[in-house]
Amino acid sequence: MWARGSGLEDPGDGALDMGKKRLVVEFKKCEPRKCNPEAGVCRACAACNKKLLIQESADEAPMLVSERMCVGCGDCVHVCPCGALRVGVDG
Ligand code: SF4
Ligand code: SF4
Repeated sequence: MWARGSGLEDPGDGALDMGKKRLVVEFKKCEPRKCNPEAGVCRACAACNKKLLIQESADEAPMLVSERMCVGCGDCVHVCPCGALRVGVDG
């Protein structure tokens, strides 16, 4: 079993996801026009270098396209002006 500090590594294949950090989107807090007054474009989508956040259209909250691939780095969290994104822990 993988555990922090155990010396065993999470193989990263999604098989041992218990306790894994991942992004949580709080849709009610998202205000795309605060983020980008002219066009309502999400800043956080551009901040994820894995391209895991997708905004289907302007003025909509982004969606995480793959929970398994999210490493919980927080790069997207830091650019959101509304506190609509946070890194949570499963399990
Ligand atoms: S999640 Fe944050 S960064 Fe993205 S549109 Fe909403 S307020 Fe803007
Ligand atoms: S926490 Fe990191 S990997 Fe996950 S969606 Fe945000 S920027 Fe991408």
